[in-house]
Amino acid sequence: MIFALACNQNSGKTTLFNALTGANQHVGNFPGVTVEQKVGVIRDTDHQIVDLPGIYSIRPYTQEEIITRDFLLKERPDAIINIVDATNIERNLYLTLQLLTLRVPMVIALNMMDELRGNGGSVDVQKMTKALGVPVVPISAIKKQGISELVDTLLETAKEKRLPAVMDFCPDGPVHRCIHAVSHIIEDHANRVNISRRFCAMKLIEGEQEFCDLLQLSQNEVELIEHSVIEMEYERGLDRNATLADMRYNFVENVCRECVTKAKESKEHQRSVRIDKVLTNRYLAIPVFVAIMGLVFFLTFNVFGAWLSDLLAYAIDGLTMLADDLLSRYGINPVVHSLIIDGIFSGVGSVLSFLPLIVVLFFFLSLLEDSGYMARVAFVMDKLLRKIGLSGRSFVPMLIGFGCSVPGIMATRTLSSNRDRKMTILLTPYMSCSAKIPIYSVFAAAFFPGRELPVMIALYFGGMAVGVVIALIMKKTAFQGNPVPFVMELPNYRLPSARSVVLLMWEKAKDFLQRAFTVIFVATVLIWFLQTFDPRLNVVTDSSDSILAALGRLIAPVFAPLGFGDWRMVTALVSGFTAKEAVVGTFGVILGVGTDNLTSALPSLFTTPSACSFLAFCLLYTPCAAAVAAIRRELNSGWKALGVVILQCVVAWIVAFAVYRVGVLL
Ligand code: GDP
Ligand code: MG
Repeated sequence: MIFALACNQNSGKTTLFNALTGANQHVGNFPGVTVEQKVGVIRDTDHQIVDLPGIYSIRPYTQEEIITRDFLLKERPDAIINIVDATNIERNLYLTLQLLTLRVPMVIALNMMDELRGNGGSVDVQKMTKALGVPVVPISAIKKQGISELVDTLLETAKEKRLPAVMDFCPDGPVHRCIHAVSHIIEDHANRVNISRRFCAMKLIEGEQEFCDLLQLSQNEVELIEHSVIEMEYERGLDRNATLADMRYNFVENVCRECVTKAKESKEHQRSVRIDKVLTNRYLAIPVFVAIMGLVFFLTFNVFGAWLSDLLAYAIDGLTMLADDLLSRYGINPVVHSLIIDGIFSGVGSVLSFLPLIVVLFFFLSLLEDSGYMARVAFVMDKLLRKIGLSGRSFVPMLIGFGCSVPGIMATRTLSSNRDRKMTILLTPYMSCSAKIPIYSVFAAAFFPGRELPVMIALYFGGMAVGVVIALIMKKTAFQGNPVPFVMELPNYRLPSARSVVLLMWEKAKDFLQRAFTVIFVATVLIWFLQTFDPRLNVVTDSSDSILAALGRLIAPVFAPLGFGDWRMVTALVSGFTAKEAVVGTFGVILGVGTDNLTSALPSLFTTPSACSFLAFCLLYTPCAAAVAAIRRELNSGWKALGVVILQCVVAWIVAFAVYRVGVLL
């Protein structure tokens, strides 16, 4: 059987999914973390469970709502688990009522019961089961309480195909008459497409054109429906959407009045309000944010990360030396020796040593995210983002983009307006992704020893500044109009759970290691090959006779005005298209030096101004292949993705040129 998890954002869906399946999905105290649907298998059974994105309503405003609705209507799960946040029950039940009209077996998992009880609240589960006509199971996903009861109830309900017993939420009166009239008109059509007629009726009353087409209504029927709706609007004195919303809220209010004893204002909420007095304060919010991010960078690049990276580099160098020695003693063929030591060890090794920097950075970012702080930042940023034509919603994808553009671009699915979504997709690559950290650190250490931190910060802010300029241009040209209003729930501050922080770090580390041993590995071997042989496949003594040099020289003139028109730098940039870490890996191979020596070897290739312009170019030029693929997918057009690549390369060229000229002058 297949079950679907459907609920509002941030109601503990992923936590429950993990508890049910034993999976390790990322949990965040941050609305909009789950964008794709994920599938898992319930422990000790072979029933599948699908983690759908969190939504507030089944109206297709955002991509996520469309994904969820389509899944429920087309894939027809055997049962729905509707998670209801017990601390937020009124708002959560709004979606529940919509789900009930779908006529699919359903179970309500009343989550966060620990928090509700802890603050003196309670729910009369029996009464609620009766009022809503579906089983209600109180659980605490985080404490794994009530999970087995939930599974038992779920299996029972699904096996018996027990449909929701209650679906009339309308008291007698104009709304009731309208809904029932429309239901009767479309009865045969709804049966034909096999969707609940009550659900279709609601959608038609709400005026969703899609359903008119789906049900293939005749002109006459459409008019009949329209007349009933107008009559209802007239009698109620409200428009159609407001009427239905009002009906649902009234029903929910009644249920809550009967079944729920409200908690006193929770400790968590009081604490959150106190913290927010400072953190979202009108004047303090932005300075505090800058200070916190500064501290994160400082701790990452100057304290823990740098130290751990050095240690790892040292270990890798030791290992390289050992391997070198053993291979020499064994008397292995010199070409193979060169492949292993100059190719693989220098290439992959120089990338690997940056693993700690990335893991440490994500350690801090996940602390901030899990605590609920990042949701505040999105809220605070709304005002600033509006100035460049975006809303606070866009902050989430961009923030994720600092880790990796691919999930960042995918997270734009949470945006409801197409305009905001496209604009955010185009801007996310300007948020410098973590794969570029190795490039920055090597260059900063080589050319600005002792001043690595300011260089890092300048690069990150430089990327954002260029993004802002691009956004302003887009706002004036291709994306005129206004961003949609920003509404986002601010979750209570929570102590980040160690499990979820460790999990995120592990995910990042795994991802990095995977890339290092696949894409980067292949790229280094290829670079090594092209650099070791000449066009007639003889081993070269001087690498400037190699195939790589010949190829590099072809495009090098394009980069000459930027100060790095040498074939070696050009090939590093080209290999960076596979993955940005490959830039450093390529330098490792080309210069044939270990991790530790890369810093001292680079000044033989670059001057300080050309290093700066190279950094600027790396910061801004084309996103890596994976990110371009994501852009292509999300914009649904290969040409537009190509346009993004070209645009970014042009922007990078212009900025790098300016940096180089200024550098030379200084
Ligand atoms: P989703 O957005 O619906 O997937 O929600 P998540 O699973 O990401 O959880 C949102 C937040 O609620 C996280 O900070 C969880 O730790 C927290 N949470 C989830 N379940 C419970 C619960 O049963 N009790 C409490 N107190 N917190 C929970
Ligand atoms: Mg989630």
